[in-house]
Amino acid sequence: MKFDNTYFRDLVGFYAPVDAALAPDPKLVKFNHALADELGLDVTNLDLAQTFSGNIKPDGADTLAQAYAGHQFGGFSPQLGDGRALLLGEIIIPAGNRIDIQLKGSGRTPFSRNGDGKAGLGPVLREYLVAEAMHALGVPTTRALAAVTTGARVQRQTAQNGAVLTRTAASHIRVGTFQFFAARGELEKLKQLADYTINRHYPDAATAENPYIELLKRVSNAQAYLIAKWVGLGFIHGVMNTDNSTLSGETIDYGPCAFMDHYDANAVFSSIDQQGRYAYSNQPLIARWNLARLAESLIPLINDDPDTAISQATEIIDAFSAQYEFHWLTEMRRKFGFETQHSNDENLFDTFFETMNDNMVDFTLAFRALADLADGNATSLRDLYLTPTAVDDWIEQFQSRIQSEPNASQNIRAANPIYIPRNHLVEAALKAAEEDGDYAQFEQLLALITNPFTEQNGKEVYAKPPLMVDPNYKTFCGT
Ligand code: AMP
Ligand code: MG
Repeated sequence: MKFDNTYFRDLVGFYAPVDAALAPDPKLVKFNHALADELGLDVTNLDLAQTFSGNIKPDGADTLAQAYAGHQFGGFSPQLGDGRALLLGEIIIPAGNRIDIQLKGSGRTPFSRNGDGKAGLGPVLREYLVAEAMHALGVPTTRALAAVTTGARVQRQTAQNGAVLTRTAASHIRVGTFQFFAARGELEKLKQLADYTINRHYPDAATAENPYIELLKRVSNAQAYLIAKWVGLGFIHGVMNTDNSTLSGETIDYGPCAFMDHYDANAVFSSIDQQGRYAYSNQPLIARWNLARLAESLIPLINDDPDTAISQATEIIDAFSAQYEFHWLTEMRRKFGFETQHSNDENLFDTFFETMNDNMVDFTLAFRALADLADGNATSLRDLYLTPTAVDDWIEQFQSRIQSEPNASQNIRAANPIYIPRNHLVEAALKAAEEDGDYAQFEQLLALITNPFTEQNGKEVYAKPPLMVDPNYKTFCGT
């Protein structure tokens, strides 16, 4: 690995240098060779288990824990930071961009507070599966390079095998990173961070009339695009705190996330989200709220006159909803297989979701079934409804709309996955791995969800929702 560690070098005072804890008996459980190739990593001479547990620090790595703050469920914590993660460093990959390599679960840091700095195997495998699925689905995301068990036990609700996830990211700069320095009134550092972020993610913003307003605009657009992607997949992040909101626009920190099976606009799975703050259809509003927190942090950089700065920033935040609408419509047209734009499209999309209300319609299968519908067969869609007549009027509208869309069915099959990491499949795969050391289901699921658009013979059960819906299904934090 050829490191070039700008965060370490250029942002002294933004992190604590720390070494990983010693893993007593590291074992590699999964390595992402395809990703390693993309990153241009030559791992032939590396001991993967020792390296990706943190026991061996690769040449050129400068391990550090980043400082950040964040609003968690609406309440501000001035000091969070990497409590269980270490940045190894950055590499420039063959495609030319700079990528962070980070260990998650590698032991305590000065930011650990009361935490043990560790991660359990279940959540590590969960993040591995979901991150790689999201990537295959075309969603900006951090990725999973390796999963290693440490040989130590970690105490959560129950005792678990300890594990370390190695993840890669465009960067780990969060809204909360800005909040950390803004809250402390450290304006020099705030400016340094903003300039660093512009240079790393939005370099042409540097020459804009007001680079910090331009930064806000770019992040706003990236977040609007990201959330439209999530919504288009029935994905619920579950813990959209400002410290889990990136400046790059990548999805980060897969904790209690989930994909919905049947469509439910109010879907919440996270055990800790009792108010439904991060419910499925709230996500665009929360993204906007998080951006407003970024905007507040940037105020002193935007203009010396706070009133002017606030009015400029407010304009950007106010534009978020329209930006989101634009990305949502684009995403929906893609999912419905449309290549042209009609003025009634938004209404057609909205009414499709209305037909699904209270009908226990599987979200993913419904979009796949649109391809059959475009081919003239309405059965596979109607069969998904408790009351199939609920969708009959809509079917007529759709059929008339696709008169001008000759490629609709093939577009739909290319845009809508058949395999997603469904909750019951993920749980079963994790249970087998955790309890029996059996990775067969994990491997099978990973293979399908990383090739999500191609139907495979004999794998029908992986495309289906669970036989029994568990209305109390909950996901948990605590990597
Ligand atoms: P997350 O839930 O991943 O967004 O984490 C929120 C904050 O809690 C971050 O500052 C984490 O570093 C910290 N944290 C979560 N779990 C642990 C742990 N086991 N040990 C130390 N810090 C943790
Ligand atoms: Mg986090």
